[in-house]
Amino acid sequence: ISSVESPDRESDVSAVGFRSLADLLADWAEQYGDQVAVSHVDYRDRPSGLRRSWTWRQLDERASAVAARLDVRGRPVAVLASQTPHYLAAFLGVLRAGAIAVPLFPPSLPGHGDRLAAVLADCQPAVVLTTEADRDEVAAYTAESPWGPPEVIAVDTLEPAAVEPVRSDPDDVAYLQYTSGSTGTPRGVMITHGNVVINASQSNQAYGVLPGKSVTVGWLPLFHDLGLMLSIACPLVGRMRTVLLDPIAFIERPERWMRALSDNPGAITAAPSFAYAYAAARTPEDDRALLRLDTVAVLIDGSEPIRPSTMRRFYETFEPCGLRRDIYSPSYGLAEATVAVATSRPGRAAVDVRVDRAELGAGRVVPSDAEDAIPMVSCGQAMDQGTAVAIVDPVTREPMPDGRVGEIWARGPNIGLGYWGRPEDTATTFENLLAGESDEKWLRTGDLGVRYDGELYITGRIKDLIVVDGRNHYPQDIEHTAEYAHQAIRRRNVVAFAVDTDDGERAVVLAERARGREDADAGAVADAIRAAVSARHGLALHDVELVEPDSLQRTSSGKITRSACRAQYLAKPRR
Ligand code: ATP
Ligand code: MG
Repeated sequence: ISSVESPDRESDVSAVGFRSLADLLADWAEQYGDQVAVSHVDYRDRPSGLRRSWTWRQLDERASAVAARLDVRGRPVAVLASQTPHYLAAFLGVLRAGAIAVPLFPPSLPGHGDRLAAVLADCQPAVVLTTEADRDEVAAYTAESPWGPPEVIAVDTLEPAAVEPVRSDPDDVAYLQYTSGSTGTPRGVMITHGNVVINASQSNQAYGVLPGKSVTVGWLPLFHDLGLMLSIACPLVGRMRTVLLDPIAFIERPERWMRALSDNPGAITAAPSFAYAYAAARTPEDDRALLRLDTVAVLIDGSEPIRPSTMRRFYETFEPCGLRRDIYSPSYGLAEATVAVATSRPGRAAVDVRVDRAELGAGRVVPSDAEDAIPMVSCGQAMDQGTAVAIVDPVTREPMPDGRVGEIWARGPNIGLGYWGRPEDTATTFENLLAGESDEKWLRTGDLGVRYDGELYITGRIKDLIVVDGRNHYPQDIEHTAEYAHQAIRRRNVVAFAVDTDDGERAVVLAERARGREDADAGAVADAIRAAVSARHGLALHDVELVEPDSLQRTSSGKITRSACRAQYLAKPRR
């Protein structure tokens, strides 16, 4: 079958001799105890950054202190700590104790309270780990928990203690990775010890990691699947040093990220597309002059739709600093698959293609030079070591031929066990059979994609597709057009979704007003959006609204939640 990529090698994670992340930590502490494992650049009290480093031995000792304190094998233990090396110690300590980690964040993180409450109610942890600085706030936050207040432990105050590590099987659950909540409430994916080790090993192989030499640089939140993989799992499996920044340090001054890449030869980093645009736009020229980016090894771009124009801009900005073209690695993944499903490998320039807009709406890839062609960037091929990707007709469950858009299905050793406490959702998402097959279970990703010329392209989410008069429109495409329709619109803060009307499904656009543009004439902006969308997409919008800055709903990882914006829109009284 043309559209099913067959795995080249089966999983080598077997129970015999299996080393979990916590076991690997002990191995490195024993063999390379004095080498640095994690460096944290802390900007909270010092604008120039205070660097603190822990060796493998220190990290191992702190993880053991946590494990020694826990007696809740097989049960969820939530990590509500801020982004410091103590977070790693807490997470790995839970694994070492044979409990189930739930990587989260402290209640003080602005704008994420609802998500935290929903996740805690879903997994009902018996114990919550934090640090002394956040302890009172965490205790107050969890005191009213209806399932019984969890015990709160500050991991940075624990006395060192030896511990007999709990032996974990590759099939035991290591942690719950909550999804971002872009399409609804976050669900906790049960990731096994085997899943995380193999997915890190697949990633390290794809990115050419050199043990003891490569280093990861990350500011992505550790509770996010990509952040956890980059800053915890890949370093442990590949015996790499990791440089940890706080997401807020990055948002305040994105040039800190660029400086960390410049300061750490062999750096591998990952971020969603928006972050590359943000860093390019906000790094001052004086800082750029001091950057040496020729030693950066890999730039992973994943977790949301990739815009070719973003990367072009990033390269135009940083090429004078020596940044190489062949290290850019667009990738695709989701929490249900630990994270990585497919990636473009470094060593070649990113592959992109411009395709005919109308044909893509009809589900076909036809290359085009037309001015309104849609640019797409390849996410490469499925991960090696046993992951397979199929493009499937979601109705007939037949694999689609190359060049035809279908739902992306995946299987392999990195696919999680299912959703915590949701057997029905687990069955519909994780246990799907291709037409005519009876043994291999596939994950339905809910994403649409196409294989073309040996490359995997992601086109969008099924749930977000806007179908008007029988034609498919991808919301990100309409949003992109709308963003550039008028100066008073805040870039990347536009949302398009479908609503049901008497005339069938119709499209609505909400656009945030740019800061400082209170003077903008809302009617004129709306007209400009309508005209641009009509000209480019042949689509008459049902409604357009200019809304306040920061009023569109986003997930904890910064993704726009179209379904929440839609619900908010529909809930508002209207003439
Ligand atoms: P929820 O499942 O709760 O609605 P979510 O799907 O955003 O939230 P994640 O698992 O963190 O949660 O994100 C995975 C999703 O991100 C993918 O299913 C896909 O829709 C999107 N995504 C990831 N990588 C890419 C990419 N390279 N291009 C386009 N979309 C991507
Ligand atoms: Mg999802």
